[in-house]
Amino acid sequence: MKNMTNGKRTLCIVLAVLILLFASAAFVQFGLKKDIYGKTICTAYGIIGSMKRGEKNILAKKEIALVAYPAEDIMAGKTMAKPEFTLWLVNATYPLAEEELKNVNMCEIGNGRTLCTEAYENLKALFAAAKEECGDELIVTSGFRTHDEQAALYVSMPAVAVEAGTSEHQCGFAVDVKTSGYGQRRFVMSRGGRWTDENCSRFGFIIRYPFYGKKTTMVTYEPWHLRYVGYPHAEIISRMRITLEDYYGIFENGKYYEYGDYLISHQTSDDGLIYLPENIGDIKVSPDNMGGYIVTVKVK
Ligand SMILES: [Zn+2]
Repeated sequence: MKNMTNGKRTLCIVLAVLILLFASAAFVQFGLKKDIYGKTICTAYGIIGSMKRGEKNILAKKEIALVAYPAEDIMAGKTMAKPEFTLWLVNATYPLAEEELKNVNMCEIGNGRTLCTEAYENLKALFAAAKEECGDELIVTSGFRTHDEQAALYVSMPAVAVEAGTSEHQCGFAVDVKTSGYGQRRFVMSRGGRWTDENCSRFGFIIRYPFYGKKTTMVTYEPWHLRYVGYPHAEIISRMRITLEDYYGIFENGKYYEYGDYLISHQTSDDGLIYLPENIGDIKVSPDNMGGYIVTVKVK
């Protein structure tokens, strides 16, 4: 009996050593690579990064005096609030109608591409900081796409492109980026890709389809696809490690929340009204493409 136990123990030890050797060999073979600077990087970065826990309780509910305005007047620019569109949710459930784009300011960004002007200004700052802080040059591979362009892309690449109307590239706030030799999934293997993953929220961008987000985005990990939602929303989404789909649900309807110098409110506006604080700071209101709005106040 004792011999059998010893035999089993030996077998377990041998198996454990073999598994350890196999895992180490696999990690060295597939997990570690040299980047373009000859620096060893871990390709499992996206997976390891996705295991980090999100922060909780970073928003504090705040009671403030509010005044109601018709949503229509706010979006027509008839109030002190500035209408914007940065917090549109665009996905298979909430496609964006092309006529919604008429009020979005677009600009040329080179190579025949266009992007929302505000997103582009912040993208330029992000690219400059990436060069300065990590040495990598980020390159745009895709910007705004028209309905027809997305439809053509879906026909030619149905496995990777989504149907026209449901692509974020059609809202003007999404951009695909790469570094030289590191496009798409490989982007996160580059120094610039890892820097972008950690720093894009400083410039109002989120990794729209994070490794951990497939359950709510229904899209697999896309480290190269950045979505502009503006500051501080990008920072909150990034710190909480949630997706844009999750974001609207963290706010109790109509309530205001404090985050640093900002006040934020999500309002479904079922009565056609949006409730704004007065004389407190600069107010921006963005529709969420689900019938509601996000109010962002920069407190003075
Ligand atoms: Zn994309």
